[in-house]
Amino acid sequence: MSVVFVITGPSGVGKGTLIRALRERVPELELSVSATTRDPRPGEEHGRDYFFLSDQEFERRVQAGDFVEHAAYSGRRYGTLRAELERLIAGRRPVVLEIELQGARQVRKAMPEAVQVFIDPPSEAALRARLVGRGTDSPEAVDARLQTARSELQARHEFAHHVINDRLEDAVDELEAIVRRCLEETSSVALGSENSIRTGQKDTS
Ligand code: ADP
Ligand code: 5GP
Repeated sequence: MSVVFVITGPSGVGKGTLIRALRERVPELELSVSATTRDPRPGEEHGRDYFFLSDQEFERRVQAGDFVEHAAYSGRRYGTLRAELERLIAGRRPVVLEIELQGARQVRKAMPEAVQVFIDPPSEAALRARLVGRGTDSPEAVDARLQTARSELQARHEFAHHVINDRLEDAVDELEAIVRRCLEETSSVALGSENSIRTGQKDTS
């Protein structure tokens, strides 16, 4: 049985950075590559960072039921492709999804056994500084992401696991501890149980 980890939290909190560091420490973790309609950032590659789809192609795949979850975020669409997730689960290695709140809620329904971790910023000022410092968003887009972040932070109580990403090394230590504990617990449950992804998920866009 593959353990599926959902890492969520506001944009700019450091999810991508934490997951990169985590995968260096726990190399068997597989990262699910999402689909999006946003443009690639400099250095991003199709199939490695995201599957970059047109609006039409994304919608066609929504209608075809190709997504485990999908959501609108900052005017763009993002989603986890069922085929990608099933391929990784079939490899029997633990899988990480890095997704926003609406998607995490859909995965909670489709795969209640998935381990959901919310990454908290130390403060709103730190979150703004990270979004600005990353240099990938215009001032308007930073404001929009911060606006979304405020409502996402109100949902933090929905999550059993939390990591505050203040000092990066401490946060990676905490995330690694959660992941290793869950992997150990799962390896001690009965062999032979399989993952299943329930169907019928809809986004809230
Ligand atoms: P997300 O994937 O959640 O959108 P990123 O991983 O892209 O966030 O991080 C956003 C910015 O914050 C990046 O420039 C990253 O280098 C920086 N960052 C991440 N974690 C920390 C931290 N603990 N302290 C300071 N800066 C951080
Ligand atoms: P970014 O544009 O910064 O890469 O991502 C914006 C937001 O979309 C982030 O919060 C990121 O976690 C989220 N995201 C990335 N992939 C997916 C996905 O497949 N599904 C959902 N629901 N959100 C995603």
